[in-house]
Amino acid sequence: MGDAPGLAESEGNASDLADRAATLWPSAAIPGALHIVSTPIGNLGDISLRALAVLKEAAVICCEDTRHARTLLSRYGIGTPTIAVHEHNEASVIPRLVARLKAGDALALISDAGTPLVSDPGARLAEAAATAGLRVVPIPGASAVLAALVASGMVPHPFTMLGFPARKGKEREEQLALAARLPHAVVLYESPNRLVDTLRDLAAIAGTTRPVAVARELTKKFEHTERGTLAELIEWAKTEPKGEMVFVLSGAIKSSKDVSTLVADVLKLEDSGLRMKDAVAEIAELNGVSKSVLYQLSLDAKK
Ligand code: SAM
Repeated sequence: MGDAPGLAESEGNASDLADRAATLWPSAAIPGALHIVSTPIGNLGDISLRALAVLKEAAVICCEDTRHARTLLSRYGIGTPTIAVHEHNEASVIPRLVARLKAGDALALISDAGTPLVSDPGARLAEAAATAGLRVVPIPGASAVLAALVASGMVPHPFTMLGFPARKGKEREEQLALAARLPHAVVLYESPNRLVDTLRDLAAIAGTTRPVAVARELTKKFEHTERGTLAELIEWAKTEPKGEMVFVLSGAIKSSKDVSTLVADVLKLEDSGLRMKDAVAEIAELNGVSKSVLYQLSLDAKK
């Protein structure tokens, strides 16, 4: 989290919001259930009233980092006890947490930002609760994956989320090869100091002209989405200031013709009077490529 427009800079008093939310949703925290609560990815305003009610009413909040959670909890006047649950202590705390759930406690789980479990801790706790026949209740909200996807300007579904690529070795090679060959959009997390290398490695497999979008500092003051080819984004990433980022790689088009020829064919048909949708459908079928990817590329080319 960090600087953000909206509530983080607002003058209003938010410290009674959780109380008010708990009054509006008095049964939001379900006894004996593990609530997976999404929290903001930057802008503290991005939290639901139901999430506030659950956090206020839960018996305990399991946090990736209790000190980090304090910023959010104190902002909304939430004094619920917290405990740390992360990859280093999961194995030892899970049995106790499952016992508490079985005894009827309502537990909430949050991570440092966004939706827990998504490249974040919590999956083992959720699995243990589900295996014990207990309720696992999602309290949906912010996630960098969907925020980046909808900001990318690409057709958002189907999509594949690959998380952080491995730093080296065979696993990295396989992940990037998979990202490059999938026919639809692929979402990846990356740290700013590794972005150039990862885009370069991808360009070596997917080609330098593949469209990509990098969304950085989403929901925060310096939010920015840069779109272009892999070659263009590599140059941009060399000069861009640091921040949190997600990138979305456009799907592969498998065809003997190159992408620019396919797009040119679409635009030619459109010039001859066809609607772009129909022109795309015809060229996509002729060449056995994804309609949605070709449509997006044709739109981009027209801009
Ligand atoms: N669970 C989180 C979610 O639902 O988005 C993601 C956790 S993952 C450990 C953290 C990564 O998410 C960051 O390294 C960055 O790639 C991405 N991320 C988180 N907040 C972001 C933001 N405000 N803007 C862009 N990317 C963000």
